[in-house]
Amino acid sequence: MGFIPYSTQDIEAEDVAAVTAALTSPFLTQGPAVPAFEDAFAAMHRVPHAVAMANATAALHLSCLALGLGPGGLLWTTPNSFVASANCGLYCGAEVDFVDIDPVTRNMSVAALAAKLAEAPRPPDVLVPVDFAGLPADLAAMRALADRHGFRILEDASHATGADRHGRPVGSELADIAVFSFHAVKVVTTGEGGMAVTRDAGLAHALRTLRSHGITRDPAEFVATAPGGWHYEQQALGFNLRMTDVAAALGLSQLKRLPAMQAARERLADRYDRLLEGLPLRLPARIPGVRSAWHLYVVEVDEARTTASRRAVYDALRAAEIGANLHYAPIHLQPFWRARGFAPGDFPVAEAYAARAVTIPLFPKLTEAQQDRVVDVLATTLARAEAA
Ligand SMILES: *Cc1c(COP(=O)(O)O)cnc(C)c1O
Repeated sequence: MGFIPYSTQDIEAEDVAAVTAALTSPFLTQGPAVPAFEDAFAAMHRVPHAVAMANATAALHLSCLALGLGPGGLLWTTPNSFVASANCGLYCGAEVDFVDIDPVTRNMSVAALAAKLAEAPRPPDVLVPVDFAGLPADLAAMRALADRHGFRILEDASHATGADRHGRPVGSELADIAVFSFHAVKVVTTGEGGMAVTRDAGLAHALRTLRSHGITRDPAEFVATAPGGWHYEQQALGFNLRMTDVAAALGLSQLKRLPAMQAARERLADRYDRLLEGLPLRLPARIPGVRSAWHLYVVEVDEARTTASRRAVYDALRAAEIGANLHYAPIHLQPFWRARGFAPGDFPVAEAYAARAVTIPLFPKLTEAQQDRVVDVLATTLARAEAA
């Protein structure tokens, strides 16, 4: 049988060859692969600037800094995300709050955002919507609210490499900065890695400086007259959050394979939709004209149509060596965030979703036989609940 993970990387011989070539080149850290990967990523997303980072968490952190977030500032995000979407605000000394989700898309609810903007004493400085599971959030509506209330949008597109809205790639417009993750479980991997894309040259410059100690080596930017070719200047407090050339070589190779990997995910997601139809489950939303990256396939146990508990479904999958998972336990209910004053009931839609949700396996090399095994366990478990 063998264990089926909920997600796993897809590495082919050409990826290995690309990494080997980088390893045996003179450059391990900052060679030609990083800018080549950035250029390819920018072209694919139809943006002028892409800045590679050590991981997406670093990209979120530095993006908040580049957008001017600091002590006294305020960041709003969705509770249905990985904790990094919220932590980045605290890294900058800002306050963090959440906006509840839409029960159908599982993304930040535009209605909840508008209501919170109407009630809150002040709007956020930075809004961090997340393209949950790879489904693009409703950035057009959020952009309209951002323009009215004067906040910036940092799109956490960690799940959404390859996704688009009406043919326009995620990150190409609407957000001030969009951030992508290349962690091993994501749709494109560099091992650890992240990317920030923006149309704003000033933001791109700030991101490049912040990722590398606040140092510039560009003579045009020097404050002093360079005494010689060795001269560089630290002009701000930055960090070392660069991507390595070895990682970028893998990313570049993966990007070439993305269309094929994405087609495989789409085919498998369509097949899940067909095979699971009729079971008492809520399936991922389909929005006309919006193309998901299908990072995750999440079903919700529909309490109105079954007596089966989420726990029973999860346990049955695990007992059958299927790597069921939960994306996500709401961030505000993590012990760290509860200690900061959040409590059950604060974001009821995200909490109700998290009580029903089960992530089932989806990755390009998932076979139809493996997928059938997942579907069989779901069908049997749900049928048993009806019989009981
Ligand atoms: C994976 C993930 C991150 C963090 O990505 P890393 O590259 O692991 O730092 C941030 N936000 C979301 C929504 C993620 O899924």
